[in-house]
Amino acid sequence: MRIPDSAARAPAASTPVTRFAPSPTGDVHLGNARTALFNLLLARRSGGRFLLRLEDTDVERSLEVYRERQLEDLRWLGLQWDAGPDREDERGPYRQSLRAPLYARYFAQLAAAGAVYPCFCSALELEVSRKAQLAAGRPPRYAGTCRNLSAQDQARRSAQGIAPTLRFRVPPGARVEFLDLVRGPQSTVSEEIGDFIVRRADGTAAFFFSNAVDDACMGVTHVLRGEDHLANTPRQLLILRALGLAAPQYGHVSLLLDRSGAPLSKRLGAASVRGFRERGYLPAAIANHLFRLGHSAPEQGLLGLEQMARAFDPARLGRAPAHFDEQQLRSWQKEAVHGLTPDEARRWLSGVLPAQLDERPASAFLEAVLPNVELPADARAWAEVVFGGPPELDTAARDAVRDAGSGYFAAAVRGAEASGNDLRAIAGAIRSATGRHGTALYLPLRAALTGRSDGPELATLLKAMAPREVRERLARFAAHAP
Ligand code: GLU
Repeated sequence: MRIPDSAARAPAASTPVTRFAPSPTGDVHLGNARTALFNLLLARRSGGRFLLRLEDTDVERSLEVYRERQLEDLRWLGLQWDAGPDREDERGPYRQSLRAPLYARYFAQLAAAGAVYPCFCSALELEVSRKAQLAAGRPPRYAGTCRNLSAQDQARRSAQGIAPTLRFRVPPGARVEFLDLVRGPQSTVSEEIGDFIVRRADGTAAFFFSNAVDDACMGVTHVLRGEDHLANTPRQLLILRALGLAAPQYGHVSLLLDRSGAPLSKRLGAASVRGFRERGYLPAAIANHLFRLGHSAPEQGLLGLEQMARAFDPARLGRAPAHFDEQQLRSWQKEAVHGLTPDEARRWLSGVLPAQLDERPASAFLEAVLPNVELPADARAWAEVVFGGPPELDTAARDAVRDAGSGYFAAAVRGAEASGNDLRAIAGAIRSATGRHGTALYLPLRAALTGRSDGPELATLLKAMAPREVRERLARFAAHAP
């Protein structure tokens, strides 16, 4: 049987092909997102291609809902792939569950070469063997029970209705070596690797196999992935070697930990990209924080993806675990918020602003609050103050209003009636009526209008408020102080 030679079709080394290969078993968390980002940047820095492949051969753990959600989250982050499940090309399909015919050809090639054998061991037998090895102080490996079954034995077990898995026959005495892009030279002897499953009993391809075969068939030249896969790489290299396929260059990126040192991936939900998105974090903030996690970048300031691609260098990937820090994310978020255009800002705060708000009050509100807002939740309280009913006064505000007295507010109402919402005109009317200036002039006004003694620029906030609402808020203290 002729197997297409992927190596021959692999692009020249100068145009890297990278990929992100998530399993749709949950939402994209920050660790995955960083892996995806690094792979995208590695491709883009040299004009290469970035692929998205869904690794969904594990039918029990893969869920349809996560397929869509993962694509959506990656798109939202701006990590646009050149080919993927929604952008097929001649190397697809980009969903492993649709690649069974291709895998079948490669299984047949391995079988013809005697590189695999059927294994009839039950889960229980394997567990017993594993425990026994652990108890004897040995690292657990497949004991080789089915390695040398005769054809008759195999036929007999099959006749009993036992569906076998397919195991890779690890050649004894072999040494697998590779140069890891992050961790340098790696070397493993085959005695450390037990014969491993390449096809599950239900006929689906196991991770080691489909992942390696797909990288070769899709022309992937570089794989950056989590260091939890480091021990898998020798197995994958053995498969590729047995099939005569080209191996990518692997780089195993250190894990992403939270501040307490626990792996982020274990904090289900809490560290999902979707969770941050729902709280109003901006993609630019997340990407900028991730770009600097485990990758030392001298470039300062908020970078766009193209700038990141120019600045990205796998040689700057560190071996030490990187720590995600929400404080740092927040400071990137602050910069990202400051970089929003008025339209973007309005969209970003759409959940906070009243639905049918006119252009003028909306832009005045954004101008007033954006300098001090990191998340939409921070703006929500101000939206209520500005667009809701008259606010409750806090203690300091109540004191200031009481101290100003009703004459102050009668003058303020007159100023507001004459000028609309012009702070200088209102303050001018109060000044002539009361002789107040400075804080004594402005503080009671702020207190009556916002219920607080501090906050965003009052002149701008006033422009966001409806003139009638302003007059009413002032008038309630013109008759009598609270
Ligand atoms: N599906 C694997 C994972 O999500 C991919 C590993 C790899 O990038 O090779 O961990």
